[in-house]
Amino acid sequence: MDGLMQNVPLTVDRILDHAAGWHGAREIVSRDAEGRVTRATYAAIRADAKRVSNALAAEGIKVGDRVATMAWNGARHLAAWYGAAGMGAVLHTLNPRLFLEQIAYIANHAGDRLLLADPATADLVEQLLLQVPSIEKVIFFCDRASLPQTGFPAIAFDDWIAGQSTEYRWGGFDENTACGLCYTSGTTGNPKGVLYSHRSNYVHALMTLQRDALALSARDCVLLVVPMYHANAWGVVYSAPAVGAKLVLPGQRMDGESIYNLIEDEGVTYSAAVPTVWQMLLQYMQEKGKRFSTLERVTIGGSACPESIIRAFRDDYGVDVIQGWGMTETSPLGTVSVPNASVAAKPEPEQMAYRLKQGRLLCGLEMKLVDDAGNRLPHDGKTPGRLMIKGPTIARAYFGGEGGDVLDAEGFFDTGDVSTIDAEGYMQITDRAKDVVKSGGEWISSIEIENIAMGHPAVANAAVVGVSHPKWDERPILLCELKAGAAATADDLKAFLEGKIARWWMPDDVLFVERIPLGPTGKIDKKAIRAGLEDYELPFDAAR
Ligand code: ADP
Repeated sequence: MDGLMQNVPLTVDRILDHAAGWHGAREIVSRDAEGRVTRATYAAIRADAKRVSNALAAEGIKVGDRVATMAWNGARHLAAWYGAAGMGAVLHTLNPRLFLEQIAYIANHAGDRLLLADPATADLVEQLLLQVPSIEKVIFFCDRASLPQTGFPAIAFDDWIAGQSTEYRWGGFDENTACGLCYTSGTTGNPKGVLYSHRSNYVHALMTLQRDALALSARDCVLLVVPMYHANAWGVVYSAPAVGAKLVLPGQRMDGESIYNLIEDEGVTYSAAVPTVWQMLLQYMQEKGKRFSTLERVTIGGSACPESIIRAFRDDYGVDVIQGWGMTETSPLGTVSVPNASVAAKPEPEQMAYRLKQGRLLCGLEMKLVDDAGNRLPHDGKTPGRLMIKGPTIARAYFGGEGGDVLDAEGFFDTGDVSTIDAEGYMQITDRAKDVVKSGGEWISSIEIENIAMGHPAVANAAVVGVSHPKWDERPILLCELKAGAAATADDLKAFLEGKIARWWMPDDVLFVERIPLGPTGKIDKKAIRAGLEDYELPFDAAR
């Protein structure tokens, strides 16, 4: 027997309709690369999004066609996002920080028909067009006066939508219709396309709005530092309008001063970003002796959150740090590290150990640990295994069938992460399956050593990689980037690690480098580190 409730398709256009209808005057603030700030509202964004739908229809874009954007966070990008989704097209976010070859590969693979791009990417677009024949038209997110000079025909977004009607009938398709396309940044292997549906994005927004997740509210002012082209913008493009939060879109500038000024000028209460962004912000604040007047909490995810960041935010600035874990394939939020009742009852030092874990599962998802043969492993907080996840916001295949069948017999997706799960249900990533250091048949967590090393006062960034060893197969070595003007020796670092990690985890060597290479999304690029270490040899003592 069917239930007798209304069967309303969960399509994301309804989220913007809600924001415009019930929080219509709430502001969307955008800052461009020149630092100019413009103000819009949810009502105005919806009107522009409807114009976009009409403009897309006029270009012959149909349900399922891919419309690409290559841009930083801004109001025009947001209008394009909803305008494409609302009419059933697939909004495909391209990451302008990738190499040209990678972007071309991705755009060709996706079969993008239109490209809406930030004017700052004009040179890149010019080269891209030579390699991606499917792109029929380029629209730059700007007005006519800011249209870049190019050797190819292009139109300003404002002209493209000017004259289009603000009436367009959104939706009318199944909730499982594709809505957005986002390629994994390829930290491990070729980029693969994750194809979100309207339903998965809608459900994800509701899941992340729980108090024990991102907990956004109508009173929040949200600074979306996470780029809209990265991992579905952590779903904030849906969750912020769903509750009518003020939304601040920071454009291209991510340095500490720019982010700090935006937080203060706009009264930001909540923000989300990867650890490297927060590190830059904290460094700026420490140097300049700045304070926050409105910021209450931040979500950190994308890579493990060092304890030093949690402590600096909380102890020095009274800001709560919530660690989240997820990946492009999981929409992206999967787990969040907030205290449950029994952890909250523990003394503070013990609580910190839980905050450093990646956290507990959101309702609606299932998670398990397995060994290489697929057998379930215990949730004892000690046994590391492959992390598998299942649910309505988890990918079941990649775009174009790339990578083949990606689910196990029980329908779980292999995250490629290695983790433990403790008796309280807290998951802790110990490594990426590809980054794990395997020494004498046992796994060493590169992430754990990195986090501890980052707590050394002279260290700005740290990376641990495995190098081959004649006896132990692999041994860890530690690369450190020192803070400007700071000094430390290899022995200092080893002494600092002593007692904090198992003795056999002690890195066999410590190398000081000018810069730890970061990938396009601000994560440590271990592929590049390993490539740079091809001729590296362990010190004689260690190699025995
Ligand atoms: P890519 O796979 O291309 O790096 P994603 O942004 O999808 O792009 O990355 C997801 C991965 O990032 C996860 O599988 C995990 O390894 C890592 N990650 C995400 N959040 C955390 C976190 N809080 N702590 C540790 N690792 C994390």
